[in-house]
Amino acid sequence: AAKSEGKCCVRTAARAIDSAMGRRARLARDLPSALELEQFRMVYQPVVGAEERRILGIESLVRWDHPQLGTVPPDEFISLAEEEGLIVPLQRWVLRRATRDAAAVLAAGWDVMTSVNVSVRHLQAGCLAPDVASALAEAGLPPHKLILEITESVMLDAEDRLQSDLATLEAMGCVLSVDDFGRGYSSLAYLARLPVTILKLDREFLADIESDERGATLVAGVIDLGRRLGMDVVAEGVENLGQLRMLRDMGCRYLQGWLFGRPVDATELSGVLAGFDPGMLDDAPGAELDT
Ligand code: C2E
Ligand code: MG
Ligand code: MG
Ligand code: MG
Repeated sequence: AAKSEGKCCVRTAARAIDSAMGRRARLARDLPSALELEQFRMVYQPVVGAEERRILGIESLVRWDHPQLGTVPPDEFISLAEEEGLIVPLQRWVLRRATRDAAAVLAAGWDVMTSVNVSVRHLQAGCLAPDVASALAEAGLPPHKLILEITESVMLDAEDRLQSDLATLEAMGCVLSVDDFGRGYSSLAYLARLPVTILKLDREFLADIESDERGATLVAGVIDLGRRLGMDVVAEGVENLGQLRMLRDMGCRYLQGWLFGRPVDATELSGVLAGFDPGMLDDAPGAELDT
C-alpha cells in the first residue's frame, strides 16, 4: 500500500509540475526527442482543379502525435521548433517523408503535385535548396512535382541571399508558392520580384465572403491580380457550396478545403483520389442561398 501511495504521490506531483509548466513549456520540453521517437506524421489534403475537374495536388501537413497530449497541430509546435533551433531537422524529415509519399502516389498512377510547407528558418540556415535536392533524389521524385509553400512573412525580409536560394530551387525545377497571401503585413512588390508561380489566398478571406460584400470584392481582386501576374491562384479553406459558387464565378481555378476533403494519412490517399466526385463542382447552389 505504501508503495502504491508513493507512486500516486509522484504522479500527482508530476501532474502539478505539468500544469505549472504550461502546455507550451511541456511541448518545448518534449519536442527535442519527438523526432527520434518517431512521433511526427504527415497528412495530405487534396487541391482540386475546377477546370481539370480532378485532384491536381495534395498539400502535406505535419502532425505531432504526443503520447500524453494527443495530436498537436503544427500551429502549436512549428514556431516552437523554430525558436528552439529544431526546425531544420524537422523540415528535413518532412521533406523526406512527403517526397517519398509523393513518389509512391505517382507510382500508383495518380498524376498529382505535392506541396510542402517551408520554414523561413530553413531558408535562412542556407540549406533549404540542398536539403530539397537530396530529398528529391532519395525519393526519386521529379522536381517539377514538388511545390514549396512559403509564407508571405518570409518574403518580407527577402534578403538577396534568400532570394538567390529561391532562384536555385526554381532553377532545379521546383514550383514556388506564396502561402497565406494577404495575412499580416502585405507587400505586393515581391510578387513581381520573386520566382513564385502559385498564390494561395489566406483562408481568413473566405470566412465570410458570402455575407461581406467588401470582403468578396477583395477576394475577386486578388484572384484577378494573380491571374494578371500569370500566377495560379488557390483558394484555401473552402468549406461550403456557397463559397465554391462565389469562387467559381470569380474565376478561381484551384480550390482546397474541407468541402473537398480533410487532410488524411498517406495510407488513405489512394481512396481519396479514387473517390473524388467531379460532380460536386457543378451546380453549386446559388438559388437556394440567395432566397
Ligand atoms: P497552411 O499551410 O496555410 O495550411 C492550411 C491549413 O488550413 C491546414 O492547417 C489545414 O488543415 C487547414 N484547412 C484546410 N482546409 C480547411 C478548411 O476548409 N477550413 C479550415 N478551417 N481549415 C482548413 P494545419 O494542418 O493545422 O496547418 C496549419 C499551418 O501550419 C499550415 O498552414 C502551415 O503554415 C503550417 N504547417 C503545416 N505543416 C507544416 C510543415 O510540415 N512545415 C512547416 N514549416 N509548416 C507547416
Ligand atoms: Mg500551406
Ligand atoms: Mg495557408
Ligand atoms: Mg501557413
